[in-house]
Amino acid sequence: MMVLTHIAVGFLLAAPVAAAQPALGVPAAAGALVGGGAPDIDLLVGTHRRTLHYPVLGWVGAVPAAVIAAVTPTALTVFVGVGAAAAAVHSTSDVLGAGDELRPWERTTTAAVYDHHAGRWWRARYVIPYDGSPADLAVAAAAAAPALVVYDGVVRWLLAALLALGAVYSLLRRRLVPYFERVV
Ligand SMILES: [Zn+2]
Repeated sequence: MMVLTHIAVGFLLAAPVAAAQPALGVPAAAGALVGGGAPDIDLLVGTHRRTLHYPVLGWVGAVPAAVIAAVTPTALTVFVGVGAAAAAVHSTSDVLGAGDELRPWERTTTAAVYDHHAGRWWRARYVIPYDGSPADLAVAAAAAAPALVVYDGVVRWLLAALLALGAVYSLLRRRLVPYFERVV
């Protein structure tokens, strides 16, 4: 799944927080952005979908962080709570996509995301056929919809811009492979 989809799913977690407590909307949005996006920094450093992806252990941090945010909602606890939850959802939901490869539609590897707890790769489920596929973009749009309603101003525009970027990426996904190859 696209990093933008993961960020949009993070916003799905932030939207009810912003609706219930508008004053905490911005820290929740920041958590969605940072937590939803951060795991994919391992595209650049370390092993993608392994170094910063914790599909099981991520929840060990996310659940208490979310509980603390619910019990003592402050800007910091909400940022950390939404961020940790968005990162855990990101890591776990990567199993729904394809294996980690440049042409994921060819399905040459089923290694979707690494489970540090069990010490093995989880097998790709292909519910989202590949990152940037029409299904991926549809999930991103659906996940972003509540936040686009709840938020206004800068946050709404930022999210809309991210979605537009996801749409462009989705359109160009297959043509971008030669550029990815040069980078890798
Ligand atoms: Zn990922």
